[in-house]
Amino acid sequence: MNRKKKIVVLTGAGISAESGLKTFRDSNGLWENHRVEDVATPEAFARDPDLVYRFYNLRRAQLAEVNPNPAHDALVTLENHFQDDFLLVTQNVDDLHERAGSKRVLHMHGELKSAKCSKTHKAVRWEEDLTAMNLCDCCALQNEMRPDIVWFGEMPYFMDEIYQALFQADVFIAIGTSGIVYPAAGFVAEANSSNTHTVEINLEPSSVQSQFDEQHYGKAGQVLPDYVASLIGE
Ligand code: NAD
Repeated sequence: MNRKKKIVVLTGAGISAESGLKTFRDSNGLWENHRVEDVATPEAFARDPDLVYRFYNLRRAQLAEVNPNPAHDALVTLENHFQDDFLLVTQNVDDLHERAGSKRVLHMHGELKSAKCSKTHKAVRWEEDLTAMNLCDCCALQNEMRPDIVWFGEMPYFMDEIYQALFQADVFIAIGTSGIVYPAAGFVAEANSSNTHTVEINLEPSSVQSQFDEQHYGKAGQVLPDYVASLIGE
């Protein structure tokens, strides 16, 4: 290799499946037995905040019971090799990438361990249960703190930074994502438009599989370590 490649990785719920976290579309499109409309939209939060608080409190508490798996570890190896030429964009709201040791991570859909003020959008680290009684730092009002999760209908975080990185990338790798949730599902098209080599690693072909130059199917914890070794060895 004459020069170091620039790598952008996108991960979805599938990379955390082997750690024991359910993906989004397990059980007929339900997330942990809930309809998206009931727990992952601003309308749901306005209608039934207690249900939404409870849902994310359970998801946050569950993080203590799970650990990173070999797929998370493989991305740390990749980052250690490519350093500043590596960017990890995740749709996941869990903290398994950080706990594995990843540093250059953008959580485009927010994080379970963060809460924010609905009025000012100021975010703070949040480890405990969140309720309507929690006061925010900025306005000191009840009923304003919410999970720092990008719900359906809201704008994902870091979009300018992500599109810039995709534009400059030599390789784009999507791992464990169904290709249904946009804008992330459109990243492969964006990468293709700047002649980036695109790779899908998933349990099964995603909705956008035909847009990738290269595909590897199987469990990420099994497929990814070998793929990373081959990329580093190139
Ligand atoms: P998704 O559930 O729509 O798709 C998951 C994909 O992963 C599927 O294509 C499935 O075939 C694949 N998969 C399952 N097990 C796998 C494995 N062991 N190895 C490789 N692939 C595997 O997930 P998505 O595309 O990320 O979209 C769901 C949305 O739900 C995201 O926005 C995310 O914020 C949210 N979500 C997050 C988590 C989490 O943080 N762990 C969990 C559930 C949902």
